[in-house]
Amino acid sequence: MVTANELAVAEKRKTCGKILICTVHLPKAKAPRFVLLLSSLFMVFACSDSRVCPSHILDLQPGEAFMVRNIANMVPPYDKTMYSGVGAAIEYAVLHLKVENIVVIGHSCCGGIKGLMSIPDDGTTASDFIEQWVSICAPAKTKVKSEYSGLSFSEQCTNCEKEAVNVSLGNLLTYPFVREAVLKNTLVLKGAHYDFVNGKFDLWNLNFQITPTLAV
Ligand SMILES: [Zn+2]
Repeated sequence: MVTANELAVAEKRKTCGKILICTVHLPKAKAPRFVLLLSSLFMVFACSDSRVCPSHILDLQPGEAFMVRNIANMVPPYDKTMYSGVGAAIEYAVLHLKVENIVVIGHSCCGGIKGLMSIPDDGTTASDFIEQWVSICAPAKTKVKSEYSGLSFSEQCTNCEKEAVNVSLGNLLTYPFVREAVLKNTLVLKGAHYDFVNGKFDLWNLNFQITPTLAV
């Protein structure tokens, strides 16, 4: 049996070529709230993994977070040529939306981190993009291999999921506008790890103890 609501939705569907367009009309009163919220809250980096959608994890509503999702939730260092897409998102969030927090969320069972940990020591790669991308957090792999050599591969990956978040937080500081905002205390950088196997969410701040640049 078709409900009245389903009928209403069906009436709003129109086909355009082979593309089915479904328009959902929101109450007009909500729109200004979206604009207000988008101006001052969070920027979130999360993995593209469909199991770790930040909106679901954090119960975020439309307008509450400006998001970037990529393989293994990585923030590359400032590089206008190689990573302009990520750089543009960070620049927009910090300078135009003036977000007050940037949160990088790692997660359990991350395939991207497993891929990073699996790259042979001689650096040979078998993919066009993936291994080069996850190598952004190679320092995390090096640290884990050195400090947790006695752990199983799975346990090393779990540690690397968290260390990679810290590498990304450090990389955020290579963006001059991020560094400036952190120094002015208008922006806070946070790391997080979502363990969907055990139902845990860890959140931490890093105290970078940055000092203003000195003329020498
Ligand atoms: Zn992942």
